[in-house]
Parts: sequence; structure tokens; C-alpha cells
Amino acid sequence: MITRFAPSPTGPLHLGHAYSALLAYDMAMAADGTFLLRIEDIDQTRARPEWESQIYDDLHWLGLSWPEPVMRQSDRTAAYQSALDQLWDDGLLFPCTCTRKDIATAASAPQEGAPMGPDGVIYPGTCRGRDRTGARPTDAVLRLDMAKAARNISYTDQSRHTITRDILVHDIGDVVLSRREMGTSYHLSVVVDDAAQRITDVIRGADLAEATPIHVLLQNLLGLPTPTYHHHTLIRDQDGKRLAKRDDARAIAKYRADGATPADIRRMVGLP
Ligand code: GLU
Repeated sequence: MITRFAPSPTGPLHLGHAYSALLAYDMAMAADGTFLLRIEDIDQTRARPEWESQIYDDLHWLGLSWPEPVMRQSDRTAAYQSALDQLWDDGLLFPCTCTRKDIATAASAPQEGAPMGPDGVIYPGTCRGRDRTGARPTDAVLRLDMAKAARNISYTDQSRHTITRDILVHDIGDVVLSRREMGTSYHLSVVVDDAAQRITDVIRGADLAEATPIHVLLQNLLGLPTPTYHHHTLIRDQDGKRLAKRDDARAIAKYRADGATPADIRRMVGLP
């Protein structure tokens, strides 16, 4: 078994992250497997080296260890480009020049507003007819043509989530696989890297469950194995609200500064 924790260094780790990381670590240890850390820093406008150092520090303090060197997504551009080339050559990507506003306007139904998917408003298809021949544009936003890509998919995960073409086309739509400023996207990078690291079990929050159909589809399209997905419940604050990265009050560093021990953190997130 190989599990991983894949934080983005864009803020402090909070209790929710500790829960994810500890679950992934405990699961790997119980199976005599390996726990890996991966730094998801494709968004270079938000990633900061000091947050990355704080991640190592907090996780070590919690008692976790992992093999070095740690994989960093900012070093993985070539792998993402070759996955995009493959999808482009298969005719599954199209360049998109829509702004957020264009998308919201085109997608809005009178009265109801725009239908939402895991990445926001479901793409209304405006640029789908654009030219897909020739070399892959490297300076454009690239979207996946979902109706074409999802032709043969059918999959049921651990928690009995069924993934069908209908869900992919109607509830998710033509997701962005390459952003102009990144040359990749969360969905593409996470899939390419989970495969490269031979992850057998992905343990992550229920907030990412909506993205799993996209990831399973991409694995199918790229000929990569599908790991087992475990989506855990989210740690909430007293008001039942989800913890966000900006919610510094729940930062591990804050609890440490206040004298909490790693055992206290485990107890707070309900782990033995
Ligand atoms: N990097 C993502 C985050 O910090 C998690 C990715 C994943 O577990 O798939 O939210």
C-alpha cells in the first residue's frame, strides 16, 4: 500500500489537514506500506516557501515521516506536458478563450442562474467547436471535451459512487486541464503524479469527492491505474462550518504555540 498527503503550500495546515495526513499515514503503517508527501505548488502565484517549510515542520511534529526527496509539482512540468500532448493528439482538448464573465452569461438560465459543477459554473461549450488540428497551443487554456472523452466510462468506487457518462457530461462538463499561467491544472497534475508515485490509496476530504469522477476518467484516457479512493468526513468548527486555509485559528502551528501535544491533535480529530 502506498498512500500520500498532498498539500498546497498556500497557507498554514489546520486540523482538517492533520486529519487527512494522519489517516493516510496510519493506513499505510497498518498495512506495512509507505506514506508519501507531495507538495502541490502549481499555483506559483499563491505558493510560498515559508508555507512549505511550515508543512514539513508541522508534519514532523505530528510524528509523521516519509521518504525524501519529496515530489514537488513545480518540478513536474515535462510530465504534465506529455499528458496534455497525448490528450491533444487524441482530439480530446480544445482551446478556450472565454472569460469567467462570458461563461457565467452563456450558462445562465433565466430565473435559475448557472448550473454549478466541481470547478464552478459548468462550461456552456462556447469554444468547443474551435480548431483542434495542428500542434497543441501552449499559451492557451485547454479544456477537455467531456462528451467525447467520457464515451466509455463506468466505474464504482469504494464508497459506491458510480461514475457515468451522464454525470461527467451533465454535472461536470468540459473542465480546464491546462491554465495559461500554469501549463497544467489541479486535475491533470494530481492524476499524473498519483500514477508516477504508484499511489494505491488516495485518502482525502469529502470536499474532493466531486473531483474523483474527473480523475478516474483521466486515468482511463491516459492509460493509468485507478487507485482506491477514500473520502473522509470534514472537520468542522463549532458552527458546523468547514475549515478553510485562511482559518488561522485552527492552524496546527497555533495549537502548538498554545502548548498542545501531537496526542492532543489526534484526540481533537477523533483518532486513537
Ligand atoms: N492539493 C490539494 C489540496 O491541498 C489536495 C489534493 C488531493 O488530495 O487530491 O487541497
